[in-house]
Amino acid sequence: LYVEHPLGQGQSVPLTRDQAHYLFGVMRLAVGASVALFNSRDGEWLGEVAEAGKRGGSLTCRKQTKPLQMPPDLWLLFAPIKKARTDFIVEKAAEMGARRIVPVQTAFTNSDRIRQDRLQAHAVEAAEQCGGTFVPEVSALQKLDRLLADWPEERQLMFCDEALVGAGQALRDAGPGPWAILIGPEGGFSDDERARLMRADFAYAVSLGPRILRADTAAVAALTVWQQVLGD
Ligand code: SAM
Repeated sequence: LYVEHPLGQGQSVPLTRDQAHYLFGVMRLAVGASVALFNSRDGEWLGEVAEAGKRGGSLTCRKQTKPLQMPPDLWLLFAPIKKARTDFIVEKAAEMGARRIVPVQTAFTNSDRIRQDRLQAHAVEAAEQCGGTFVPEVSALQKLDRLLADWPEERQLMFCDEALVGAGQALRDAGPGPWAILIGPEGGFSDDERARLMRADFAYAVSLGPRILRADTAAVAALTVWQQVLGD
């Protein structure tokens, strides 16, 4: 269970109404039951139910069961697409160990709004289900132009573009990072965006093969390629 509260020996951890509903209403846990807790800072702890109510409750931390496992310093930048497919991208990025997830607005992005809280909740659920000890932050929607203008020079960008078939760069020659991956919207990148990215010193233009992948497929493929070549 992901909590905001600090975790440590003997620490009492209050539960929100939703968490109490899930643990005591849905899972039917009672006082004394064990629950695995994590908060992205203190690793995983074994918690014991101390108070169980309909609208709240608390757990007591008994012992640490896993140290904090920080994912590699990798960001996933992607242009939001349809709701279910955007949810899928966030879920898979959290499962595959992205440290930060950044929705970006590009020239051909389908939507100019996202539900950041909903997407963050998907990241929490994904981290919970894969036994992680860290939940990536989902940022607010940011304009690609602005992001590139303020880009931190030391961070390399794996720019994925289907127009690069046969002309992509090889990641294995790239530096150690930190890294970000960029996936475009359904309509791909505009010529201006492509030209700007191709000129940027920090960008590595990467092809994911000869077929045009759906954006959600491309996100998973890019995360896999990155993990295989540069991940730990
Ligand atoms: N129209 C489809 C859709 O509805 O999802 C295809 C979208 S494709 C243009 C979306 C993004 O996936 C691209 O901007 C690019 O970042 C990435 N992509 C897709 N195929 C790729 C490939 N073969 N190599 C590199 N990137 C690719």
